[in-house]
Amino acid sequence: MKLIDGKACAQQIKAQISKEVEMIKAIGFRVPKLAIMLVGDRPDSVSYVRSKEKTCKSLGMDCQTYFLAADTPEEEILKLIEKLNNDRTIDAILIQLPLPDHYDSARILDFIDYRKDADGLHLMNVGLLHLGEPYVMPCTPKGIMTLLETNGIEVAGKHAVVIGRSQLVGEPTAQLLIRQNATVTLCHSHTRNLPEITKIGDIVITAAGKPNLLKPEDFKEGAVLIDVAINRTDEGLEGDVYSPRTREALEQRLGAATPVPGGVGPMTIAMLMQNVLDMYKIKNHN
Ligand code: NAD
Repeated sequence: MKLIDGKACAQQIKAQISKEVEMIKAIGFRVPKLAIMLVGDRPDSVSYVRSKEKTCKSLGMDCQTYFLAADTPEEEILKLIEKLNNDRTIDAILIQLPLPDHYDSARILDFIDYRKDADGLHLMNVGLLHLGEPYVMPCTPKGIMTLLETNGIEVAGKHAVVIGRSQLVGEPTAQLLIRQNATVTLCHSHTRNLPEITKIGDIVITAAGKPNLLKPEDFKEGAVLIDVAINRTDEGLEGDVYSPRTREALEQRLGAATPVPGGVGPMTIAMLMQNVLDMYKIKNHN
C-alpha cells in the first residue's frame, strides 16, 4: 500500500507559496494579508486560529486576527466584516467555525465579499463550485483533490464513494469528483448497508467523524482510502478507518491511503494559504 503523505505534499506547497511571497516582497509590493475572526473561546478553535496565523506569517504573508466575545451582537460582527470587505489591504477573510449556536452562520458567512471568502463557503462560491466554475474552493476538498492528483491517482471513470455530506467537506468533495468525471456515491447518516457500498468503491473518502466506521475488509482490494476525519480518542488521533489498530490490515488490503494524522489535515491549512495568495494575485492583476 502506498502511504499518501499529506505532510510532505503540504510542505512543498507552502515552500512554493513562500517563494512567491518572497518575490512579491523583492519587487516592493505589499504582501498578501489574511484577516481571521474568532467569536468565542472554544479551545480547539483558538488552537486552529493560532496555527493558521502562525503558518501565514511563516510564509511571509500578513495576518490580522480579531478575537470577539461569544456575546458580541451579530450586527457588530457584520459591521467588522463590512470594514474588512472595504479594506483594500485585506485579501482574504476567514471566520473560524463553528460560530456559537445563537448566531446565524449562513447570514454571517454570506456577508463576506465572495472575492475575499478564504474558505469558499459563501453562497456565491458554493453556487460557482456546483456550476463547475469555482472562484475559490473550500480548503479540505481542495486538499483532497490535490493529494489525489499529486499522487497520480486517476479519478475519471472511477467509482468514488464519499461518506459525509457536510457543506465543509463531503458535499463539495463530491461535486469536485463529479466535475473530474468520477461516478460518485454520496453516503450519509441515513445510508443503509454502508459496507456494501464501500466494497464497490475504487476511491473511498470518509468524513463522518466516527471512529471504527468501517473495517479493512469493507474495502475492495487495491482501493484508495482518503480518511478525512480527525477523531480524538483515548488512544490519540484517529480517522474514521485509519488507526494504529487497523493500519496493518489496511496495508494488506488497500492500494493507497492517507494516514491520520499526517494525511488530509496538513493539506487543509496549505490550501488556505494557497487561497490567500490566489485572491491577492487575482485582485492585483485586475
Ligand atoms: P459534520 O458533522 O458536519 O458531517 C458529518 C457527516 O457525516 C454528515 O453528513 C453525516 O450525515 C455523516 N455521517 C455521520 N455518521 C455517519 C455514519 N455512521 N455513516 C455515514 N455517514 C455518517 O462533520 P464535517 O465538518 O464534515 O467533518 C467530518 C470529519 O472530518 C470530522 O471528523 C472532522 O474533524 C474532520 N475534518 C477534518 C478536516 C481536515 O483538515 N482533515 C477538515 C474538516 C473536517
